[in-house]
Amino acid sequence: MPVRDDLRALEGYHSPQVQVRVRLNTNESPFPPPVAWRDAFAEELSRVEWHRYPDRAASELRAGIAAMHGVRPEQVFVANGSNEVLQTVLLTFAGPGRTVATFEPTYQLHGHIARLTGATVAEGERAADFTLDMGEVRRVIRDASPTVTFLCSPNNPTGLEEPEANVRGVLSLAPGLLVVDEAYGQFASWSAMGLVDDELPMVVSRTFSKTWSMAGSRLGYLVGPEWLVAELDKVVLPYHLDAAKQIAGRLALTFVAEMDERVQLIVAERERLAAAMGSMPIDVVPSGANFILFRPRGRSGRAVWQGLLDRSVLIRDCSGWPRLADCLRVTVGTPQENDEFLTALSEVMQ
Ligand code: PMP
Repeated sequence: MPVRDDLRALEGYHSPQVQVRVRLNTNESPFPPPVAWRDAFAEELSRVEWHRYPDRAASELRAGIAAMHGVRPEQVFVANGSNEVLQTVLLTFAGPGRTVATFEPTYQLHGHIARLTGATVAEGERAADFTLDMGEVRRVIRDASPTVTFLCSPNNPTGLEEPEANVRGVLSLAPGLLVVDEAYGQFASWSAMGLVDDELPMVVSRTFSKTWSMAGSRLGYLVGPEWLVAELDKVVLPYHLDAAKQIAGRLALTFVAEMDERVQLIVAERERLAAAMGSMPIDVVPSGANFILFRPRGRSGRAVWQGLLDRSVLIRDCSGWPRLADCLRVTVGTPQENDEFLTALSEVMQ
C-alpha cells in the first residue's frame, strides 16, 4: 500500500539511545520530579473515574497555566508535549498550498511536521555564528510569504537566545502567524511570553518536558490570542489529554518554587561547563538553554563524540547534520554527570 506521494521522501526523527553511564543527549532534566509531587500524583490517580472520559477542555490545568503566566485560560492551549502543540498549529494554519518558514539550523520537527501537513517549507539561513540575519528574514518573507514563521528561543540545537528586537522585528515583517518555540524558555534571560496579545498573530509554546522534569508525561502548551486557541480546539482530537496527564500537570504547577531552584542550578552548571569547555581547544556557542553546542578545534566532531562514548558518556552527535559540521551538543546534567563529562572531554581532547 503506497504512502502519500509527498511523504515518501521524508525521514523520521531519530534520537539514538545507547546504554551508558552518563546520558546527556536529549535535553531532559537530570532530576526526577519532587517526591511530594509523585506522592500527590499517586494519591489522586487512585481516585480517577477511569470509566469516564476526562475533562475535554482540561479546564483546571488550563486555568493553572494561565494563572502562572498572568493570562486568561482561553489564551492557553494544552497538548501531548509541545510537539503536539506545534502539530496542531500546523494542521490549523499550514497544509497543502501554504508555506512555513524556518531559519536553519533550528529544531528539526518544525520543518518536519510542516511537511507532514503537506505544506512547503522555506528554509532561511542563519549567519555563520548561528544568529538571525534580518536581511535574510526579509528575503524569505518577501519570496515565500509564509502563513507560519518559526523562531525558537533559545534555539535548539544552537542554544542561542533570540534577542527581543529580533522577535519584534520578525513579528512586524511576517505576513502570517509567528510561532516562538520556548521549549527551553525558562533557562533564558528573557521570554517572548510578555508580547502575546489578542490582537497580534503570535503564539509562544512551552513544555513540561525540561524544567518540569516530566518528559515521561508528554505535556506542552502555548499561550496565544483567544480566537486562535479556539481554532486549535476545533482541530485537536477530542479528549486528547488523558486524566492522568491532567492531574500530573495540575499538581506540577504547585511546585513552581522547586522548579525555579532546579532551573537556577542548571543555569549555574551550564555556565560552569561553558567556562571549562572554553578553556579547551573548543568553540562554544553561548547558550541560554539547558544544553551547549560546541565544535572541537582541530579534531573531527565525530571522533570526539566516539571518544566520549568509549568513556560511557553519551552526548548528541550533530556533526552530520546540515550546517553543523563537527558540532556536538551536550545536555547539562547533575554536577556529578557534568564532572564526568568534563573529565572525559579533556582526556579525549588531549
Ligand atoms: N521544541 C523544541 C525546540 C525541542 O527541543 C523539543 C524537545 N526536543 C520540543 C519542542 C518538544 O518537546 P515536547 O514534545 O517533549 O514538549
